[in-house]
Amino acid sequence: MTKRDYYEILGVGKQANADEIKKAYRQLAIKFHPDKNPGNKEAEDKFKEAAEAYEVLSNEDKRAKYDRFGHQAMGAGGSRGGGGMNMDDIFSQFGDVFGDGNPFESFFGGAQRSRGGKRQRVGTNLRVKVKLTLQEIASGVEKKLKVNKQIACNSCGGSGAKDKASFKTCGTCGGSGQVRKVTQTFLGQMATTGTCPTCNGEGTMVTSNCGNCRGTGRMDGEEVITVNIPAGVADGMQLSMSGRGNAPERGGVSGDLIILIEEIEDPVLKRDGNNIIYDLFLNFADAALGTHVEVPTVSGKVKLKIEPGTQAGKILRLRGKGLPEINSGYHGDQLIQINVWTPKKVTHDEKILLEKIRASENFTPKPDKNDQGFFDRMKEFFN
Ligand SMILES: [Zn+2]
Ligand SMILES: [Zn+2]
Repeated sequence: MTKRDYYEILGVGKQANADEIKKAYRQLAIKFHPDKNPGNKEAEDKFKEAAEAYEVLSNEDKRAKYDRFGHQAMGAGGSRGGGGMNMDDIFSQFGDVFGDGNPFESFFGGAQRSRGGKRQRVGTNLRVKVKLTLQEIASGVEKKLKVNKQIACNSCGGSGAKDKASFKTCGTCGGSGQVRKVTQTFLGQMATTGTCPTCNGEGTMVTSNCGNCRGTGRMDGEEVITVNIPAGVADGMQLSMSGRGNAPERGGVSGDLIILIEEIEDPVLKRDGNNIIYDLFLNFADAALGTHVEVPTVSGKVKLKIEPGTQAGKILRLRGKGLPEINSGYHGDQLIQINVWTPKKVTHDEKILLEKIRASENFTPKPDKNDQGFFDRMKEFFN
């Protein structure tokens, strides 16, 4: 199937600014909204198509890529690399385009979603932060998170009803959750289908409430959730666990648990993408005579030989000792920057020793082409 141009889908020009794009998407989303077009597959497709176009054109980077390379740059199935966007993604990502006075507020607020006529309630998403050390990021880690959340009431199982006898089928819609309305217009009779006003689309009604939750079907609770965090994550990344968020009122699908990654700054190892940068301080004698040192890495200590005559500013590279790239086999490097530490205070005896060294011919700087300066080192490592 060939894809339509994203600008064409939203009905805007190639020069449209962010506001115009948002406005165009908003109008389409309202027009083709599933609440307004229950059971209409064509409207649902249009709704999804508009959301996909908006996802790309509302993001500066994605839009620039799309402008240059077209759909190919977006991968198969649009920006999601397969299958396009699903309804849940659309609601969770773009609910805010409706802003204040949102005509579908209860819908986007996570209260109710239509699925095949009957409405299903969806709980709200829950966000938690997880702090990780660089070592945990390097290896990947399993974390047990204690989460305070709304869970299904343990007395009624989430239904909100006192007991089995407290349910009755809605008399208005006969349990379908939908009502047909026939209205007379000057064009003749018009039949429309809408949500049943008596049961709010649920098909059943509760005649007597559970005493524990007062009919809401949920209560405050706590859950210990085990999360497997893959190696190579970075500060600010989000992982999402579907269905592990808050329970909705009176049964349905729980929201998502969104885990925000926070990186704990390491006192000596600095992260630069997948590479790790480490400052090694040597004393002047070790730099001149050579030595063996141990340096920390994200995967433990590593022994390192320092050659005699090592210059300050030299950068040594430990290949593969950086961080893994998420979901790939690639590992970054650890770069070790050599610094020669100069004593800030010396005793009388040391002073005499240094005066002797200073007078010696070998200690007069005579850099040759092998002693790279700052500029050469930068060129080497950024090329
Ligand atoms: Zn209850
Ligand atoms: Zn009803």
